Amino acid sequence: MIISFPPPEAGEKEGISTILRHNLKRSESHILKFKHIPIRKCIACGERKSKDTFLRIVRTSKKDDKNKIIIIDSEANKDGRGYYLCKDVKCVETAKKKKKLERIFTRKVSGEIYEQIQKAVQNTE
Ligand SMILES: [Zn+2]
Repeated sequence: MIISFPPPEAGEKEGISTILRHNLKRSESHILKFKHIPIRKCIACGERKSKDTFLRIVRTSKKDDKNKIIIIDSEANKDGRGYYLCKDVKCVETAKKKKKLERIFTRKVSGEIYEQIQKAVQNTE
């Protein structure tokens, strides 16, 4: 998490320690809310981090999307329940090994889907 301090001329040493003390008093969730950082959890490793560092996988609910229930969403907003996976080949492997997507989407997930995810991860590295 990045906490930005005011520039030295504005804060001075005393100012910075006051801000630190102030932040320590707040609960972590309060700071996160205060800073407006959306935190998401990886479905494979369970790590929590900023939403931007994840690949988003969405289950659409449209009937005509029957064969495309699982899509990899690189855009920020799309309808449907979203799940997050680290942009890390290791996490894709873990998800595949532990059948994470099958559990989430409660349907069979073809190896092709995992390949697509793998590719998407490699493209963003
Ligand atoms: Zn992960």
